[in-house]
Amino acid sequence: MRLRRLRKSPRIRDIFADSKIRTDKLVMPMFVDENITKREEIRNMPDIYRFPLKHLVDKAKEYEELGVKSILLFGVPKHKDPRGSASYDDKGIVQRAIREIKKETDLVVFADLCLCEYTDHGHCGLIKGTKVDNDSTLDVYARIAKSYADAGVDGVAPSGMMDGQVRRIRKGLDDAGFEDTLILAYSAKFASAMYAPFRDAVFSAPSFGDRRTYQMNYSSTREAIREVELDIEEGADVVMVKPALFYLDIIREVRNRFLLPIAAYNVSAEYSMIRSAAKNGIIDLDSVVNESVSSIFRAGADIVISYFTEYLLKIEKN
Ligand SMILES: [Zn+2]
Repeated sequence: MRLRRLRKSPRIRDIFADSKIRTDKLVMPMFVDENITKREEIRNMPDIYRFPLKHLVDKAKEYEELGVKSILLFGVPKHKDPRGSASYDDKGIVQRAIREIKKETDLVVFADLCLCEYTDHGHCGLIKGTKVDNDSTLDVYARIAKSYADAGVDGVAPSGMMDGQVRRIRKGLDDAGFEDTLILAYSAKFASAMYAPFRDAVFSAPSFGDRRTYQMNYSSTREAIREVELDIEEGADVVMVKPALFYLDIIREVRNRFLLPIAAYNVSAEYSMIRSAAKNGIIDLDSVVNESVSSIFRAGADIVISYFTEYLLKIEKN
C-alpha cells in the first residue's frame, strides 16, 4: 500500500481531502460603536475596525458582495451604568444596527448578547455585593433577546455564561412570539487570556475581579461537556466552543457526542498572534491562516466565527 499515491498532485490531494474550509460557513464579527464618527482600527487587530452605524452598514454591504453569508454583531454604547440598561434599549446601537443591516442586505445577522459592554463595572451580569448575581441577570438577558428579536435579528448569541440563560432567553422569546429566533449559545466559553485584544476593542475589561466565577476553567473537559449538554436541554439551536485553537479537543469531543451544529469562535488573540508573527516574517500569513482555520473545521466545527473571514474570502476570489 502506498498512501503517497493520494498526495501525488495538488488536484488529487484536493479531491481526496476530507475536510476543508468552507467560506460560506464563516461568520464575520463586526463592531458598531456609538461614540465615533469615523471607523477606528482596533489596537493589535490589523484590518479589524469599530464602525459608526452608517459605515457599518456600508461595510456589511461590502462583505455581502464579497460572499460573506453571516455576521456576529457587537456593540459599544455611549451610555454605561451598573445595570447595563443600554443593552435592551430599542434604540440601542446594536438594535439599530440589526434593523439597518437587515433592511439593506440579505446577511444572516447574529448578535452577541451580554452585559459586559454595557455595564460600568464591565462584568457580564448584575452585581450583588461583590458577586455577579446569576438569577437577576437572566431577566435582563431575556429583555435584550426580545429587543434584538424586535429589531429582526436571525439569532441571539448569549455569551455571559450564567446558569439557565438559554432556558430563560428561549422562554422570553417564545412568550413574545419570536419562536423562530435562533439561539446560538456560547456553551463552553473558557476564561481565556486569548480575549485580550477583544477587550480593547469593546472596552469591556472588568473593573474588579475577573470572569473565572462564570467562564469555564480551561483545565476542565468534562465540565465543558456538561455545559453543552445543559444548553441543549435548555433549547440551544447551535452550541459554541470558545476559544477555538487551544480547544480543538473540546470541539471534537462535542462533535462526537452531540448532533447539533457546532460553532467555534476563532478569537481575537488567535487572529492577532498570527498577524503579528506574519508581520515579523516568522510565518507565511496565507499558509498559516489556511492551516489554522482548517484545523477548526477538521476538529468538527460546522461554522467558524473568525476575524479571518474577509481575508479568506479575498484569497478565494483571487
Ligand atoms: Zn460578557
